[in-house]
Amino acid sequence: MKNLFINGKWLSSESGETLKVYNPANNELLKELSFGNETDVKKAIDAAYQAFPVWSNMSPNERSKILRKVSDLITENLEDLALTITKETGKPISEARNETLRASENFLWYSEETKRINGEVLSSNIPTKRLIVVNQPIGVVGAITPWNIPLNMIARKLGPALAAGCTVVLKPAESTPLDAIKMFEIFEKAGFPKGVVNLIIGKPEKVGEEFINNRKVRKITFTGSTRVGKYLMEGASKQVKNISLELGGHAPFIVFEDADLDQAVDSLLLTKFGNNGQMCISANRIYVQEAVVESFSAKLIERLEKMKVGNGAEEDTKIGPLINESALNKVLSHIEDAKDKGAKVLYGGERLVGGGLEEGFFCKPTILVEVNSKMKVAHEETFGPVAPIISFKNEEDIIDIANNSDYGLAAYFFTKSTKKSFEVAEKLQYGIIGVNDGWPIQIHTPFAGHKESGIGVEGGTFAVKEFLTTKLITMNIEN
Ligand code: ADP
Repeated sequence: MKNLFINGKWLSSESGETLKVYNPANNELLKELSFGNETDVKKAIDAAYQAFPVWSNMSPNERSKILRKVSDLITENLEDLALTITKETGKPISEARNETLRASENFLWYSEETKRINGEVLSSNIPTKRLIVVNQPIGVVGAITPWNIPLNMIARKLGPALAAGCTVVLKPAESTPLDAIKMFEIFEKAGFPKGVVNLIIGKPEKVGEEFINNRKVRKITFTGSTRVGKYLMEGASKQVKNISLELGGHAPFIVFEDADLDQAVDSLLLTKFGNNGQMCISANRIYVQEAVVESFSAKLIERLEKMKVGNGAEEDTKIGPLINESALNKVLSHIEDAKDKGAKVLYGGERLVGGGLEEGFFCKPTILVEVNSKMKVAHEETFGPVAPIISFKNEEDIIDIANNSDYGLAAYFFTKSTKKSFEVAEKLQYGIIGVNDGWPIQIHTPFAGHKESGIGVEGGTFAVKEFLTTKLITMNIEN
């Protein structure tokens, strides 16, 4: 088992420990991998440190060609990569193909961005001085990615880091390392100089600790839970280390009575049931104005009834399993908690077994009504296919209710009024606002959590800046 990629070579872990990877659709063992420890991660950081002058001094055109090659190779291997995503996450193959395409598009975008990292010449108040501002790559980056979007998350972090001229050590999530291995096989073929990209499949605590304490790491970029994000941020403070965090969310989804209900339902299917609700931008609280609650719920049930829940590898599957048993248990416990506190199950509400699903972690898509703010679904991230519907009367109160969260990642609302569109969008305290739009993300758009949802920006040009430092060169030209 040689699945750690360090300094241009495939290696086994020093510890001899292993990690088993399972398919959540049937609990089948997919692979047993070598599992790294602190010694391996140190080696990877050293390799990235040594490669930094090589990569950061390479011409933007040369860097661009390599990143473009990565993009092309992802497209060439689309089916294989997509199937790997489906096997280790359970997500439907159609969603996995989309994710793979987005990963390719991201590398294409960043291959172009690497040519546009420029500085500025400032005017000087002192006639004998000239002022030049340069943007330089920050140094070695420690990247930690989650399991829910395993391939594209690598592209979203490594694309801009590499475009900026940084070298990288990546630690993917334990449930989804197989995509990362495939991605690094592509990196190997694309022709990066050795040490520029390094892969550590290893113990999260050990890797995190080394990223925090090793002075050669100058930037940590993390996507995952708010709990781990806070731990890393606290750790990074010891060396005033630069850090970007994309953390949890608790997105409100507001349907005003003047909305196009079909559009709202279509959008909810994307943001609530896409990836089985396992996204930080997934809708969590569905606020529907009293007059349209019944018709909205009826339309939603009609659509859900047509969506096949099953193994993601089957082409017609629309909803796959949850990532593992504890994720399933959490979702079921949120449903039970809501029922105990008075919610009614309008649709679903249970684990799905039978028809070959018994070994997997399937939850029937669920609609809850008569939900109130005391229930866990109303303030904790459920990370599953549960739509809690909360009806509201007054438009004046709904913004405050929607903003009443420690999170601030995404918010959605639906109305036909242009006036309301602007007024509500400007008042919502969230980093991404979808107005009549359930999928508010494109390759080049900023993705930035407010409040406890994160710090820093991902996406497009915004992301490249996260991997650059600003330097002033002031020149006295008197003599
Ligand atoms: P989730 O609960 O959704 O799995 P986590 O925050 O636990 O979210 O996981 C996201 C990523 O963070 C994964 O790659 C995981 O291995 C990593 N991780 C978990 N704990 C730590 C830690 N203490 N230090 C560094 N990375 C960690």
